[in-house]
Amino acid sequence: MFHQAVWDEKLIIEKSGKRTLKLPFENVEFKMKIPEDLARKDLNINDNEEYEVIRHYVRLSQMNYGVDLNTYPLGSCTMKYNPKISEEIVSMDQVKYIHPLQDESTVQGSLQIMYELQEFLKEIGGMDAVTLQPVAGADGEFTGLLLVRAYHENRMDFKRTEIIVPDSAHGTNPASSTMAGFTTIEIKSNENGMVDLDALEAALSDKTAAFMITNPNTLGIFEENILKIAKMVHEKGALLYYDGANLNGIMGKTTPGKMGFDIVHFNLHKTFATPHGGGGPGAGPVGVKKKLEEFLPVPVIGFDGKKYFFDYNIKNSIGKITGFYGNFAVLVRAWAYIKLKGGSGLKEVTEMAVLNTNYLRKKLQGYYDLPYKELRKHEVVFSGTNFKQYGIKTLDIAKRMLDYGLHAPTIYFPLIVEEALMMEPTETESKENLDKFAEIMIRIASEAKENPELLKNAPQNTAVGKIDEVEAARNPVLSWKMIKK
Ligand SMILES: *Cc1c(COP(=O)(O)O)cnc(C)c1O
Repeated sequence: MFHQAVWDEKLIIEKSGKRTLKLPFENVEFKMKIPEDLARKDLNINDNEEYEVIRHYVRLSQMNYGVDLNTYPLGSCTMKYNPKISEEIVSMDQVKYIHPLQDESTVQGSLQIMYELQEFLKEIGGMDAVTLQPVAGADGEFTGLLLVRAYHENRMDFKRTEIIVPDSAHGTNPASSTMAGFTTIEIKSNENGMVDLDALEAALSDKTAAFMITNPNTLGIFEENILKIAKMVHEKGALLYYDGANLNGIMGKTTPGKMGFDIVHFNLHKTFATPHGGGGPGAGPVGVKKKLEEFLPVPVIGFDGKKYFFDYNIKNSIGKITGFYGNFAVLVRAWAYIKLKGGSGLKEVTEMAVLNTNYLRKKLQGYYDLPYKELRKHEVVFSGTNFKQYGIKTLDIAKRMLDYGLHAPTIYFPLIVEEALMMEPTETESKENLDKFAEIMIRIASEAKENPELLKNAPQNTAVGKIDEVEAARNPVLSWKMIKK
């Protein structure tokens, strides 16, 4: 419990020569005692002044990089600016201090938020039902593929053991397919960077459980044959899965439902603004068409006109995916973001994201190789191959960007672009920022030709200089102990 210390001279005590505050917690009895043999004998912690500790952490924070500081062009990750009002909302006691085992009647507000989010996502995805449980995009993929399996098995169709993915797919797609017990079949993309219909036709069979694609795909290109693809897949009795990581390129303009998809996962942390990176935190709700609703994980959030409740009444549920509320704080942020933007606001987000990307594409075209001529949606993938003749790799370009105080884009993904340099400016960058960003990229392109050593030795202006990538991969230091040289 939190006690407010009342100002009182008696509370100030002298401890090892320092004045400190005596708080009324002395009589607290700890029931759990650490066994003698496990208790630490020599607690060797430095006795630092407050200002020293503050300066240490502020200094550390200044060595870091975040979207609050500057452009964060990490493609595929949608590193948009995250409005601070969402942080205020998730910091409210009503959100922060609820317990997962509280009675439904005491958490009606939280359930309402979750219920409304389900409804919003249904509309945005063009789906009929949604589960909020999965805690990442990849977790959503895994959940979605379990639903695919349940669907076919429920129809006594046990031979569907294959998931088809294009060669431009994110690595989590084949990984989730394997984890869910399927065999992954990879098909190549055509010369326009889209699904090769002949390759798809050849791969489809009565063993196909689903075709899993991202649209716009990882090149940022919209699949122009998506309706035809949906027809081909459905005619073979298979399902069509939508990797929703790139929703920022279509949101409010169209829906995966309209394109013929049966299952969608949403990466709430990407599209709907939760600060994320380094593996978390995330939420990957899954939306499905009517025919898959009976397999959703339990519980979904129900509403009977008066009360919100956990609905466990799902006929052929695949069971539970995550404990309790899932990643509740991410759900609340997404709900707040959608409420604040409204339907037309979400559409504007997409329009700005697409405009920004194509602006950047035009600005850098000619300086960096640009495979595929199509217009892009929310991201654009350049290639560093034109710098090979100067001994420069995409990695060197990315490292040099750090010297200019920028975050690097995604590199070497998607795999179908050699020396890939994948940029996603997002809608939250102004024209001024994009101009500045492009100017630096153009400067780096000329440095690569005129003074390649600058790039090869980069970064020089960062807290940590160039890292020996080979050594780091071969002999990773995984223990917390510092190595004494
Ligand atoms: C980010 C991403 C994923 C995986 O999502 P996580 O939330 O990181 O698990 C899947 N597909 C694509 C295209 C992505 O960009």
